[in-house]
Amino acid sequence: MSDTHVEPKPTHKPHTIERQMPEDALADVMGGALRQEIKVLDHGFIALVDAMPRLVPTPEGQTPTADGAIVQAARVSYGQGTKKVSEDRGLLRYLLRHRHTTPFEMVEFKFHVAMPIFVARQWIRHRTANVNEYSARYSILPDRFYVPSLDEVRKQSRSNMQGGDERFKIDEASEVETAQEFLDFLKDVEALYPRYMSLTEKGVSRELARMGLPVSIYTEWYWKCDLHNLLRFLSLRMDPHAQEEIQAYARAMHDLVQPIVPLTMEAWRDYAFESMHLTRLEIEAIQDLAKGGQGAFGSENRREKAEWDAKRQRLGL
Ligand SMILES: Cc1cc2nc3c(=O)[nH]c(=O)nc-3n(C[C@H](O)[C@H](O)[C@H](O)COP(=O)(O)OP(=O)(O)OC[C@H]3O[C@@H](n4cnc5c(N)ncnc54)[C@H](O)[C@@H]3O)c2cc1C
Repeated sequence: MSDTHVEPKPTHKPHTIERQMPEDALADVMGGALRQEIKVLDHGFIALVDAMPRLVPTPEGQTPTADGAIVQAARVSYGQGTKKVSEDRGLLRYLLRHRHTTPFEMVEFKFHVAMPIFVARQWIRHRTANVNEYSARYSILPDRFYVPSLDEVRKQSRSNMQGGDERFKIDEASEVETAQEFLDFLKDVEALYPRYMSLTEKGVSRELARMGLPVSIYTEWYWKCDLHNLLRFLSLRMDPHAQEEIQAYARAMHDLVQPIVPLTMEAWRDYAFESMHLTRLEIEAIQDLAKGGQGAFGSENRREKAEWDAKRQRLGL
């Protein structure tokens, strides 16, 4: 008898797959388009290249949307019996209002984006997306630099250390001179591109040659994100505190997804983007006002007081 052990071959009997066909015909939430693109900044773009779900059952005469995938996932947690929140719009609004987030992760969007590297650096901080970026080790970066127009040059904000807000006045000689000097500076930096090209042609590796390029040069990536985290991205990057250049991309992204998940976007505006968070101190100030007081605010912190003033103004108090 041989002592050689022979492993039994794994066997696999294919399963029977049951297919369920939809009652309504399937329709494409992107209307059959290969990509839907919006131009952003001077050379950039954001293009929606895919969505999940892409094909959705759609009654005749209706526009296909992906809101139903969120509702479908949510109903799993409520079971069959719950009819109270069974209307789609009502359920979506309830989910968003109560931060029941996972159903919104059932919808995904994939974008192809071209943006300056300084915008990409802010964008990449959103870790919950999947990213594949153009490799400047592998390929030459194209000759594309972001240069704002003269009337878009912003001054350093006095109130927000991180931002710029007011523009240089292009009808005032001293101001336009500074704005123009900034644009000249960008042009000088851009003029480094031919040296980058010539050094790579002489054999310097692309991974090193790129070190001399400025962050105003454009890069590209594919960026895929679920709707829950995409809404978080939009809340942070459509906010006026975000840098204007990334705001421009966020607004374009909003416009691309809005027609695909209209009920969700409506709820997001109502309960997140255009809503207001009140701190305990702010609630106490409102309670004081309601009692006929001056609205005493329990903090001397300058920034916190300024934030409360802004909210108070918005509330008309
Ligand atoms: C106006 C503005 C100014 C900013 N200024 C600065 C700055 O000066 N310096 C700076 O470094 N950054 C800055 N940022 C970036 C900011 O701090 C966040 O890194 C960025 O907005 C991404 O947010 P996020 O972590 O919520 O997003 P995501 O990375 O997409 O994460 C979404 C959520 O998932 C969860 N999550 C993700 N990853 C983890 C993890 N590893 N562990 C636990 N939970 C996780 C968290 O709940 C997180 O909020 C700024 C952002 C904005 C909008």
